[in-house]
Amino acid sequence: MWGQRVVIPTSCKNKVLEELHESHMGMVKTKALARSYVWWPGIDEAVEATCRACEVCAQEADVPPQHKPRSWPWPSLPWSRIHIDFLGPIEGMTYLIVVDACSKWIEAIRMNSTSSQSVITKLLEMFARFGFPKQLVSDNGPQFISEEFNRFLLRNGIEHIFSAPYHPASNGAAESAVKICKKTIKKALQ
Ligand SMILES: [Zn+2]
Repeated sequence: MWGQRVVIPTSCKNKVLEELHESHMGMVKTKALARSYVWWPGIDEAVEATCRACEVCAQEADVPPQHKPRSWPWPSLPWSRIHIDFLGPIEGMTYLIVVDACSKWIEAIRMNSTSSQSVITKLLEMFARFGFPKQLVSDNGPQFISEEFNRFLLRNGIEHIFSAPYHPASNGAAESAVKICKKTIKKALQ
């Protein structure tokens, strides 16, 4: 015994580790469980390695262990950097979601079409109210990479920043705004 914990001989480590990991509680809880009952030199590291290698346990983790998205610098002026994305379709409707990186102000516009021209029309209405932003962040959606859309941005002196492909979290501001809108719109439709 080591305090209240049973010292596990080397030959049994793997068996005990397997049992500790059986219910996929994630690194933190599995270590806590181990600490209540068993010990061997390096048990924490062994549990960590097992849980880190396990996809099911990773979902349990509060903070993803790797690829922590680098956060965007916070602009000092409102409406200087906006993030845009689409939401939907929800019950047949698609929404253009625009969020201001500084104030977190969200615009959600119901769209009849998601073409570049439709997006430009809606953005122009918005810019008429708030002014032109300095930067616009979007993913590589076809309406955002079109020549028409890029001419529109260029003409108005707006820098276009693309969120990394296959890494939607890099447009995180728009992503979380989309989530908020999704919840709200679904509730409103019920
Ligand atoms: Zn697991």
